[in-house]
Order: sequence, then C-alpha cells, then structure tokens
Amino acid sequence: MSRLEQLPPEPAEEHFLIPLKGTKELALMLDGNGVKADQVRLVKHDTQVHVVHAQMLIEMKPDMTTSQRSGNQPVGKTLPTKEAVMADAVARAIVLANDANVHAEIGEFLDKKPGRSFGEKPFRFKLAAAHEQYSVVDKCLKCNGATTNPCKTCNASGSAPCTGCVGNGFTQCPVCYATGQQQRADGSRMPCTKCSGTGRSMCMTCQGQKFLRCAVCAGQGRTSCTECDRTGFWTHIFDAHWHVEATFELERKMTLPEVIEVVELLGVQKTATEGHAEILRLVPEVVTDKLILPYAGLLPVAQVEFSVIGKTHPAVLAGLHGRIIEIEPLLDTYIKPGVSALVKLSKGPMAAAALVASACRFKLVRQVLAGLTHHSKGHVYQKLKNEYPLVVTEKFAKATIRYADLALLALAEGPRWRGLAVGAVAAAAAYAAYFTTPAREAVRGMMIGQRLEQHLLAVDVLIWALGCGMAVIAVKIFAAKALKKILPQTVQVKEHGLPAAGRQGWIGMPITLVLWLVFAFFSQPRAEWLTSALQKIGINL
Ligand SMILES: [Zn+2]
Ligand SMILES: [Zn+2]
Ligand SMILES: [Zn+2]
Ligand SMILES: [Zn+2]
Repeated sequence: MSRLEQLPPEPAEEHFLIPLKGTKELALMLDGNGVKADQVRLVKHDTQVHVVHAQMLIEMKPDMTTSQRSGNQPVGKTLPTKEAVMADAVARAIVLANDANVHAEIGEFLDKKPGRSFGEKPFRFKLAAAHEQYSVVDKCLKCNGATTNPCKTCNASGSAPCTGCVGNGFTQCPVCYATGQQQRADGSRMPCTKCSGTGRSMCMTCQGQKFLRCAVCAGQGRTSCTECDRTGFWTHIFDAHWHVEATFELERKMTLPEVIEVVELLGVQKTATEGHAEILRLVPEVVTDKLILPYAGLLPVAQVEFSVIGKTHPAVLAGLHGRIIEIEPLLDTYIKPGVSALVKLSKGPMAAAALVASACRFKLVRQVLAGLTHHSKGHVYQKLKNEYPLVVTEKFAKATIRYADLALLALAEGPRWRGLAVGAVAAAAAYAAYFTTPAREAVRGMMIGQRLEQHLLAVDVLIWALGCGMAVIAVKIFAAKALKKILPQTVQVKEHGLPAAGRQGWIGMPITLVLWLVFAFFSQPRAEWLTSALQKIGINL
C-alpha cells in the first residue's frame, strides 16, 4: 500500500530549527573572513510553516494490440464491433480511477521517484493492475458465413466438359479415321462398317454424355472455405492494457504567492528532491475519469535578524536546511582589507611578503589564490558563487579574482621569464630534431605513400604548436614552483592544474614562431611552402 498522509495538526519540530541552521550557515561563510564564528549570532527569528499545494493529474489511457484467429473462438469480453470495444476500453478508465488497487500501484510508482515525484516533468508508465481481453466475432468475409464458396473449376455447375471428347460426346472412328470409308482387298471402296459411314464413334469416357462430374467439388458445385477453416467465422481478439499519463502542477490559487516565489527560487523539483520541504501525499480524488493525487509540501520560511560583530543584518531563510535566500552582501566589507592587499601586490614586488600575509588572513582570498594556481578565473568564480551565495556581490567577487590573478602574475614574474627561456630552448630543440634530421623526409615519404603530401604543411604547423605548447607549459611550471614557495602553507591545496602563463605565455607564441621559421629555412631540403612563399615576395634562393 502506498503511504497516504494527512496534514499534521502541528508541523514537526524540525521546521522550527531552521533559524539555527541558517545561523550556522552564515557563521561558516563569515568565519575566517574577518569574522569569527562565535561573533555571528541570531538575534530575532520568526518561523512560519507554509503549505505548498500541488497535485498530480492522472489520466489512464488504453493501449490495444489486436490479433485474429479463424473460427468462433472468443476470449474475454465479447462485443459486437471494434467501436464497441474501444468505447468500453475508454469507459473502463472510470472504473480504474475508482479502483483501490490502481491507486496503490500509482502511489507506489510516484513514491519511488526522487521527491515522491513532486515537481516531476510529465511522464507515463504502464499500469500492471489493468488488463482486459475483448473478442469481436465476425462472419467470414470470404464465404459470408456459409462455410463454402462456389467451385471455381466448374463454375459452380458440378460438372465439367468431358476431357476424352472435349464435350462433343463422340470421337473419331478408330477404323476409318473419320473418312467413313473402308478399302476392300480389290481396291474398291465401301462405307465403314464400324461407324456406318459417319466417321464418328461414341466417346467411351462419357458414354456420349458430353459432360463429367467435376473432380474438384465432387459434383457439389461448392468447395469448403479455407479462409475460415470451414467455420464461417473470424474472431478478432483485442488485448487491452492501460497506461498512466501523469502531469504535475502547483496549485497556485491555493498557495500564497510569496510561498510560490520561494518554491520557484529553490526550484520546484529541488524543493522536494533536496528536502527543502516535507512532502506529503494526500488521499486521492476522482473527477469523472481522471484521478487527482494531491500533494502538500510543508515549507518553513523564517524572518531572522543576525548580529555580526554587534551589527544587525536582517535575512530570510527558507526550507528545512535553513538556506539563506535574502541577506545583504555583508562579506564585501569584511574582506575589503584582503582585497586591498591584492591590489597593492598586483602593482609590483614591493613588500610582497607582508602583503601576501595580510591578504591571506582572509579565507575567501586564500581560496581564490589557491584556485587560481590550478584553475581558470571562470572556474574560481563559479566556485566562489556556490560557496558564498548572496553574501558577496558579483562585482566584488570578480574584482577579488581579477586582482588575485594580477597579484599571482606579479609575484611569479621572474620565474615565468626563466620558464619562457627554458621553454623556448626546448621548442628549438624539438624543431631542430624535426627539420635538421631525416625525420621530416621520413614523414614526407609516409605521406606520399598515403597520397597526403599536400598536407605536409599541416604537420609542420603541428610541430610549431607542439613547441609553442612546450614553452607555455614551461612558463606555467616555473610559475607554479615559485608560487608554492611564496604563498603560505594555508593556500596550498592538493589539486592538479597549473596557474595562468600570463604575458610570458603570449610572448612564447611569436618567439617559437620565429624559431620554427628559422629551422624550416635551414632544413635540408628547405620546406617547400617556405620556398614558394619567399618566391612570391620576390626572393629567389
Ligand atoms: Zn469462410
Ligand atoms: Zn466443381
Ligand atoms: Zn468408321
Ligand atoms: Zn466424352
């Protein structure tokens, strides 16, 4: 049986704990960001548990599979026509809508889905509890119920022209060969004694009757109907199953608009699947052939006032996890000193150690610095938005990331130049290995074999890209090593990924391009695309 509930007289205690949960959430965000966790206090709170009304509209529709068999062999319910079967199947939905077993099956199905199917997109499923067979018995279309059909061989006459005389009743006289005359021994002629001069003799097959009994119908004129197996009937069998079409909807008229707003903010489906509301399924109602499964979601919303270092901040909390859905972006002010330190760091290496120390006093700044040594700015921004919802403005978060990025670039400026030098040498070595050894000729030979020689330039460009990539990675590796030394232990995280290459990464591109062109020029033989390009600008070598 599915669990059908009633609205409780009093919401559970859990609903009234959300101000404490929200306080914890805020304390967690502010702790280490210029505020200590115990400086975040709950001053005032008022929790109301709202009912979110919703319903699952259930329609049951038949699915038919049909089959035929010969004879009068009905199974299940016998009805006169196919139309009557369809009408009965549709009408059956009303019976199903009132069937307790069907309610139980649908309820179990809904309850199995996450969030008890609350907020689910329209879906359908097959109803196991409903199955019906129908039969419609029709007269055989071929014989129209007679079980026999007119014989085609004899055209229903029962007899056929004699095959011995082609229906003439006589055959040619075997003595005179139809001449009617016989020749005597002396050569004179006389009328045939066998046929008395007629030249004909009576057909022995039909005894002169001209017709014979039809062998196909044994003279009956009719043959058994094979379509209906001599029964005169066809039975059409209709196998009916029903499927459920379920559509979820919020009952907006029965729910306070501001509560709907909160539900939509949390996400209608997530309200249930993430456990923001306590979801109850109430007793089903039947409206003609439709079944309505009502839901009631109990959603706590609290108006609170926090005190942070003595200053009060109003906020709104929603859902059983006490999520803060409204609060001013108070963290901006608290981490401002950390961001100022980043701004100064981004301008040069003056007093770097002291500035790093003062920036790293803030957890959020440390997280941004750690993130940027392994990930892109976009990635770090997304992470920040998830970890500090509402309490930091977008503008402030983006500025923090921008200055942190600039500060990291400034801090590892020297090592990045060294990385570029090492990377350029490595790229040059790779180009030399390709252009000044038989390597390129071997590649060309292989490509000619594959009829791809016109794409040799693409391979050359790939070699450039490889060298360029090596230079950029060298810059990043040198920057990562340097940052590991400069940044305090609290910023180090066990994540993979390298910091941005910055200006030196971009400069690596033209440098490797020049190196690549030089090696292409001095390769033996010289790269043919380079020769023809030089010829085009008037240089013949
Ligand atoms: Zn028939
Ligand atoms: Zn016949
Ligand atoms: Zn004869
Ligand atoms: Zn005959």
